[in-house]
Amino acid sequence: MHWADVIANTLMARGDKHLISTGITPSGYIHVGSLRESITANAVYKALKDKSADADFIYLVDSYDPLRKRYPFLPESFEKEVGKPICYIPCPDNCHDNYAEHFITPFLEALGELGIKPRIIWTHKLYEEGKFTDIVDLVLRERATIASILGEVTGRKMPENFWPFTPECPKCGLFTDKVLGYEFPYVHYKCGCGHEGDADIRKGQGKMPWRVEWAAKWKLFGVTCEPFGKDHAASGGSYDSGVRLAREIFEMEPPHPIPYEFIQFKCRGQMHKSTGNVVTGSDALLITPAPVLAFGVLRYNPERHIDYDPGLGIIDIVDEYDKVESLYFNGGADEKEIDLLRAYEIAQPTGVRSKLPLQVPYRHLVSIAQIADSYEGVVKVLKRSMNIDDISEEDMNVLKQRIGCVRHWLNAFAPEEVLYIISPERPDMEISDDERSYIVELLERLRTTEWIGDLIHNAIYETAKGRGLQPKVCFQVLYRLFISRRSGPKLGFFLSTMDKDFVLKRLSEA
Ligand SMILES: [Zn+2]
Ligand SMILES: [Zn+2]
Repeated sequence: MHWADVIANTLMARGDKHLISTGITPSGYIHVGSLRESITANAVYKALKDKSADADFIYLVDSYDPLRKRYPFLPESFEKEVGKPICYIPCPDNCHDNYAEHFITPFLEALGELGIKPRIIWTHKLYEEGKFTDIVDLVLRERATIASILGEVTGRKMPENFWPFTPECPKCGLFTDKVLGYEFPYVHYKCGCGHEGDADIRKGQGKMPWRVEWAAKWKLFGVTCEPFGKDHAASGGSYDSGVRLAREIFEMEPPHPIPYEFIQFKCRGQMHKSTGNVVTGSDALLITPAPVLAFGVLRYNPERHIDYDPGLGIIDIVDEYDKVESLYFNGGADEKEIDLLRAYEIAQPTGVRSKLPLQVPYRHLVSIAQIADSYEGVVKVLKRSMNIDDISEEDMNVLKQRIGCVRHWLNAFAPEEVLYIISPERPDMEISDDERSYIVELLERLRTTEWIGDLIHNAIYETAKGRGLQPKVCFQVLYRLFISRRSGPKLGFFLSTMDKDFVLKRLSEA
């Protein structure tokens, strides 16, 4: 059974009503790995829905968290913003209302592209609207117990004067832990800047520290399931403290945890352009078709780590996806592949299609995108070389997305070995007598061959066989003749993407 269904069954044994929670502090560019959390949560949500459970799915944007430091991508002027809540810091590029929005917006768009649509909740609004008032009041009254729980779980000595609430000072804009006392609804403090005041816990004038806040969110929403990075699951980590806070302070069962492994970058092949920086979720979607990216995550158990290879790995994963897609519609999957079919199903942003979508080998698209300039041009070459008459609107949409991904990939991540240029003139090269007579025969054969990839391939292959030549040797001479290299894309298909007269002329020049 696919892991998402296993988790859904575990949850159903616990109760009928479920809330899956995910979230992030958008303090900078959001790495592709963060998509794993949302894809994982969405899978369990979908599995619950498929079992007709009452399920809901939220995404908490921790917009009230302070900026921890000035990251290298921030201008020097942001030094003064460190320590302020990211919802009150300006957008670094002046294109959003605030800092948090700037970094979360592209990420939420990426989720939308993956068909993941949780309810988005902004933490700073929860505070401002007084949603946390009762909970904050409770944790302030229970501060001694909370301090001992945190001390025991983390093994760290808690400060004498621990308060599970840090007021936001209106004078300097920073959070302060210099709390002097509490009487509902005011937390009295004296900030490091000298300002002394009262923070009203009903109006979002301060926040809980994050370990406490995490459990407080479980309480507020009634969270029953939450995926989180495995670092939080470590012994003494925030999930451990959350469990105790949930049971001992909030009188609830903690959510079912789904610790997940990180997505690691591993690039095979030399990238022709160095990208240097992080690959964000949006970057990944620029080069990986959305359902393929989701499939790449869903096919593995959350506890297994995933290598994301933006080089040749992209071609492999698309091929794998297409293979599973064909098994899904044509049948023939063995026992081991059943879970892959389910991963394919869950990965579809708008549900599974009614019949097998048009399958164009991704390598073919990589070739054509290097020959044809426009999208229309690609489609034209594709139709001719693969002998396709009609492409449905749904298939067109898939193609459009894939061609877009291929183009971005070629521009940024594709390794040298898939890039090639068709030599405009016959390259200056030596050709043996055997090779020459092979080409002469092939030329005659191709004159009468319909200009379709498969048929050209057969002609190349059979001519070689008929002359008792190694096909590999024949392929090499043809690659040399057209792209001045010894290897390249699938030859029959590749030649079919070019104009027939051009190919025949080049062969006759050999
Ligand atoms: Zn912006
Ligand atoms: Zn202050």
